[in-house]
Amino acid sequence: MNLIDVVQKFPTDEECLKYIEQMRWPDGVVRCPVCGCDRISRITRHSKTKNVRKSLYQCLEPTCKQQFSATSGTIFNDSHLPLHKWFMALAIVVDAKKSISANQLKEHLGLGSYRTAWYMAHRIRKAMEDENDPFNKLRGTVEIDETYIGGKTKRRFGRSKENQRPRSEKFDMVLGMRERGGRVKYVHIPDGKAATIRAAVAKHV
Ligand SMILES: [Zn+2]
Repeated sequence: MNLIDVVQKFPTDEECLKYIEQMRWPDGVVRCPVCGCDRISRITRHSKTKNVRKSLYQCLEPTCKQQFSATSGTIFNDSHLPLHKWFMALAIVVDAKKSISANQLKEHLGLGSYRTAWYMAHRIRKAMEDENDPFNKLRGTVEIDETYIGGKTKRRFGRSKENQRPRSEKFDMVLGMRERGGRVKYVHIPDGKAATIRAAVAKHV
């Protein structure tokens, strides 16, 4: 999504928040990020000073009782900046592919300080690199296929007889995951056991 799409689709923080909730809980069931429980109560707080509405959730599991919001554990957490600025920053940084300077970001978003712009760019880049970030996971309907690469290649490295034999047992296994109508990921896996595939899917989907 480029900057223009983002500005049109997410003009206010409410749209942004709705989108984050959909990404996070695609089946519409809010789950506690700590214990996974779906017995949740919703708390709506009106902040008088900032005139913003913040939706908080409370886990009802007696041993957990975690309070959280849709942005807990994401790059938007604990930021005083409005979500729609974050969404614009994401579009700019992701679209720039190469590096965009904090000063450029500051100009584009009309931010008050260089420090804030630097912090945003830093958080976004870190999240893009972090495989464990929930926003990097594939979602919706994901098709998964396993492929072997190099299975029938004869490897002839070195001169020993051992190395001249076809080493058909030596192959790399790759798991391809495709989001319906969306992104594709390829990950290398050590073997094709069900548990290995399950673990890879849990990590990336
Ligand atoms: Zn909980």
